[in-house]
Amino acid sequence: MARRLYEQVRRLPIVSPHGHTDPAWFALDRPFSDPASLLIVPDHYVFRMLYSQGVPLEALGVPRRDGGAVELDSRAIWRLFAKHWHLFRGTPSRLWLTQTMVDVFGIDERLTIDSADRIHDHIAACLARPEFRPRALFERFDIEVLTTTDDPRDPLRHHQTIRQSGWKGRVTPGFRPDSVVDPEAAGFADRVAQLGEMTGERSDTWSGYLRALASRRRYFASLGATSTDHGHPTAQTFDLPRAECEALFAGALTGSLSPAEAERFRGQMLTEMARLSIEDGLVMQLHPGAWRNHNPRLFEAFGADKGADIPVPTNYVRALKPLLDRFGNDPRLTLIVFTLDESAYARELAPLAGHYPALRLGPAWWFFDSPDGMRRYREQVTETAGFYNTVGFNDDTRAFMSIPARHDMARRVDCAFLAERVAQHRLDEDEAGELAVDLAYNLVRRAYKL
Ligand SMILES: [Zn+2]
Repeated sequence: MARRLYEQVRRLPIVSPHGHTDPAWFALDRPFSDPASLLIVPDHYVFRMLYSQGVPLEALGVPRRDGGAVELDSRAIWRLFAKHWHLFRGTPSRLWLTQTMVDVFGIDERLTIDSADRIHDHIAACLARPEFRPRALFERFDIEVLTTTDDPRDPLRHHQTIRQSGWKGRVTPGFRPDSVVDPEAAGFADRVAQLGEMTGERSDTWSGYLRALASRRRYFASLGATSTDHGHPTAQTFDLPRAECEALFAGALTGSLSPAEAERFRGQMLTEMARLSIEDGLVMQLHPGAWRNHNPRLFEAFGADKGADIPVPTNYVRALKPLLDRFGNDPRLTLIVFTLDESAYARELAPLAGHYPALRLGPAWWFFDSPDGMRRYREQVTETAGFYNTVGFNDDTRAFMSIPARHDMARRVDCAFLAERVAQHRLDEDEAGELAVDLAYNLVRRAYKL
């Protein structure tokens, strides 16, 4: 039954509403340079595992902040990776990378120390061919739309180039304002000043700052953006009196906020962003609960996004209440919430999403973007939130080559889950077929207005 359901969805186009691919790839359409810098160097799932087993990041070609020496030879990096391939047994990385090697590059042997050079050279030869350029792969992967993640200060030149190029691939920007709403991020005041210069608004006043953000949101929307994304440390929201907002903003600019005040400011900004979403229609995503850069020594040497982000318990019921009190009943708002705290699925998130019209539940995310993680997600949320308060799958990836494998995994897991419900006479098979298509394709387009 699962196979029958899967046959109905396996060839549906990919809708990728949230991810971290580089728009320059599709604007410039240059060949990817080599196997290691495509598949190993940018993949934090890969190098965090190797690092945990004692492989230094320098040996994997991860650039150091001080410009110090790191391995640059693709073959040497690939060999080291092959030598440690067994570490990925039982992990989704093993499945994504295997499927990428087989389906994208047509490799028919297992990665071992002996096959490493052959596989490396085969991939390198593929990358030199026109059908492995970014746009050709985008078309081969049958991606209907792909959203990137972009800073509000980004002029979006690559997105403009893509739109003006006449290429029919649809790549849209995503508005990610963390760097200009988090007063604890170094350089906050400079970036806010930059926002003012870009928009002609007095961004050193609370109201001018909000107008500057609204203006950048409209600019993003003019280039196809349909959503915003907020990577806050917690899900905390606030709805504070104006005088307190102004005082917090002044303190944010001078860098004088206490950690608790910075949290109040970030929480207020989520509510402000929800208000702007109701005005401009951008769908809002909240990705809380990661303790970023948990390993200070690694952060010092290599910077952010190096596999050292660790989940922390996250509260939603109390934290979201100020925002929901104000906008939770407004059907013009779509707030899609994610979690790294699985204990919140059944206890908090499914009940919230199963009640508030503005709230939807994002898919199993990051550490739970895996067969078992997706299954636990469906098991814990479906009975309370149903399927239709969820929003389909998103790959959230920098690893472009793995996008088909990731979406395929989600489709397989969902079909298996649905088939089980049919076998238990809790769903009819035609309903399951309809659901399979909704989960793979319709829900995501609807939720993200794509
Ligand atoms: Zn993301």
